[in-house]
Amino acid sequence: MRTSRAAAISVGVALTAIMGAVLATPAVAVDPEPAPEPRVAVEYFPQPGGEGRRTEVPLTTETETETGRATARSASPSASTTDGEVGELAVTGPSADRLDVVIVGDGYTAGQQDAFHTAAAAKWADITGIEPYASYQGLMNVWTVDAVSAESGITGDPTADVTKDTALGSYFWCSEIERLICADIDKVASYATKAPEADLVVVVSNSAKYGGAGYSGLEAEGYPFDGVSTLSSDNAQSSMIAAHEIAHSVGLLADEYTYDSYGTWTGGELPDINSSVLTAEQMAANQSKWYRWLGESDPTGGTVGTYEGSSYYPFGIYRPTSNSIMRALNISEFNLPGREAMIAGFYREANALSSEVATDSAILRTSRIKVSRAELTGLAAPELRWYVDGRPVKRAQGLSSVVPAALGVPADGRTHTVTVASVDRTASVRDPEVRAEATEKLTWTVGASGRKGHKQH
Ligand SMILES: [Zn+2]
Repeated sequence: MRTSRAAAISVGVALTAIMGAVLATPAVAVDPEPAPEPRVAVEYFPQPGGEGRRTEVPLTTETETETGRATARSASPSASTTDGEVGELAVTGPSADRLDVVIVGDGYTAGQQDAFHTAAAAKWADITGIEPYASYQGLMNVWTVDAVSAESGITGDPTADVTKDTALGSYFWCSEIERLICADIDKVASYATKAPEADLVVVVSNSAKYGGAGYSGLEAEGYPFDGVSTLSSDNAQSSMIAAHEIAHSVGLLADEYTYDSYGTWTGGELPDINSSVLTAEQMAANQSKWYRWLGESDPTGGTVGTYEGSSYYPFGIYRPTSNSIMRALNISEFNLPGREAMIAGFYREANALSSEVATDSAILRTSRIKVSRAELTGLAAPELRWYVDGRPVKRAQGLSSVVPAALGVPADGRTHTVTVASVDRTASVRDPEVRAEATEKLTWTVGASGRKGHKQH
């Protein structure tokens, strides 16, 4: 639901033009430092079920000229193909009120677009099999965009010497790492932006081989979305990569895995929700980070505490549980602090409550107010509450259609207000700030005084 897309695209176009100019300029003696290639951080998982690793890769395939890989441009698909066509995989509400996920396929020919749609649906089903995606998928829209490739399959599958001409230029063996699937982010953006909104992008590559990646920091490079996940279509374990990567973007969660070589963290407290320099005793005393969850039995199988090793450092910094989906992909559960952070992120990006009755002009006592709510299940515990002049109307609780007069708005010639609040009473939230984020309100002014109503969040 980001609103700066047009501005971001023009920045992206300008940036691309500048990068093109820089690359086209031959090296001259007055400037001995070569222009840096645009590179961006990615995370990948060397083995199915393993811990992640991070590296930097080129933004586009054109810049990786030293390997000569994937530099060929795809032939223009003929007008009879579905190239660029947008599909609705799971559209639950207006994009302004939803977290919009766009899935684009690579290595699918004109005749294989049905296979792409099947793969996209299967991958989304895997991701939404995991909590809290499962309970909160009603706050998300999922779009598909057809990208027609000249050849079936992608570069580097099954072996490093295989080259394919594909719409998004995606390839295994990125930076010489077999399981790292990179793509040309300019080409990905050219398709993803055909969908109404692209908050998050997933690239599904036509392959049975395990692999994928998570790009981050793309908004800083001028793209209208911050994260792109890549994953292979026909490998059951690749879905976990996207479930992990989306958690960085939506839940702002840190990685809980470590590198032996990093040694001891000696800096101060990090902003990360799920990493802390405090021991459990200190955390409880300071009432910070995940202190509200300490000692609880956790969906990952253990007890919430402070386990040494997080945010890449094996010592001097702690994570909430022994294992979780933010540490390794051999477990499909977030820990309780991670679950709460994900729910906070869903509500930050989306609104569960909407109404076609405008709140910016006064309504009559006899006007019907209808509201609609996102469909939330499982962990969620949504409740609708009505108020007249700020006082709760208990008998109206849960109603999605009311008339102010029936709520008790008197015909006394004065102005009154009717407010509806959608409150998520989920037990997966303990932080009052997150609870407030998960509470949405609409207020109408009742009466003919012409005073304006207002919308609150
Ligand atoms: Zn990660």
